[in-house]
Amino acid sequence: MSSGHLTIDLGALAANWRALAQLSTAETAAVVKADGYGLGAGRVAKALAQAGARRFFVALAEEGAAVREALGPGVMIGVLSGHMEGDTELIRAHDLVPMLNSVDQLLRQIESLPNRPFGLQVDTGMSRLGMEPPEWSAVRDLAMTRSPALIMSHLACADEPDHAMNARQLDTFREMTAGLTVPRSLAATGGILLGPDYHFDLTRPGIGLYGGQPFAEARQVVRLDIPVIQLRTLSPGDTVGYGNSWTAERPTRLATISGGYADGILRALTGKLRLYHGSIPCPAVGRVSMDLITVDVTDLPEDPGYLTLLGPHQGVDRLAAAAGTIGYEVLTSLGNRYSRQYLS
Ligand SMILES: *Cc1c(COP(=O)(O)O)cnc(C)c1O
Repeated sequence: MSSGHLTIDLGALAANWRALAQLSTAETAAVVKADGYGLGAGRVAKALAQAGARRFFVALAEEGAAVREALGPGVMIGVLSGHMEGDTELIRAHDLVPMLNSVDQLLRQIESLPNRPFGLQVDTGMSRLGMEPPEWSAVRDLAMTRSPALIMSHLACADEPDHAMNARQLDTFREMTAGLTVPRSLAATGGILLGPDYHFDLTRPGIGLYGGQPFAEARQVVRLDIPVIQLRTLSPGDTVGYGNSWTAERPTRLATISGGYADGILRALTGKLRLYHGSIPCPAVGRVSMDLITVDVTDLPEDPGYLTLLGPHQGVDRLAAAAGTIGYEVLTSLGNRYSRQYLS
């Protein structure tokens, strides 16, 4: 088998959820959008339900249907995009709870699913999703006659604890929800770490569950090993890969591994990528191509059978930093050609 091999540690995932639940003064939900941050929404959601999560969030109604399929009845599945035209049957059939983002969505919900649960999303300054204060004032009374299950908002700068935006959004959220008896939710992973003021009735961690920053204590969930397809020895002056972008300066042992940008190993990593043989780093040389990467393994004591891209010596955040991006993007870019093994 030549595909890369992804190992997903569901025990570490569950431990991360429990650790974040421990930090939360509120109930702790789990965000499993984008196929569980690339790790498989069904498997991930099942493990988190087993750990004790009772509320889940996805971005799209279609994702919610898949999570319902995996979990069965008895848990709440919230849809962050709300109730879009065309979603009504999915929401009904899979018992989803749309987080309504606008007056239009609220009216659509009341008209098409009058007795079904829903939540509301208000915008406290991020200018992305949710009703802004004037819009919210206009429909607040109408919405309250329908007993929403939750009112939520999202923080723009929670990964920067000292950013003034955090306190501003907290104040706005308090003002917008003052006097209501509806359960409230403001914090994702970053918000949990800002402390109890931000927790309200429900926290909604995503990235911290999957082992990413800003949850520094997170246990690593993902390991990615990539098989070596071929080994060769270069003479000084030999060039490697598209564009001859790398030239051997010494006799070089070169490994060609079975992964590339089609597998989510970003081409922008060219010149900055390292893979590991045990604890020994090996630099990738030449360009990252679609299905293949070439790696200088000259300094290893033996020819490797595979090299490790994500593992104990390089987690998602270190790889993300090398690529100039964030752990979220590394995870959600993981390709669908990898074989996957789930450890419980
Ligand atoms: C993605 C998302 C979350 C989870 O955020 P993390 O930073 O991954 O913890 C929570 N709430 C909303 C509205 C989101 O879009």
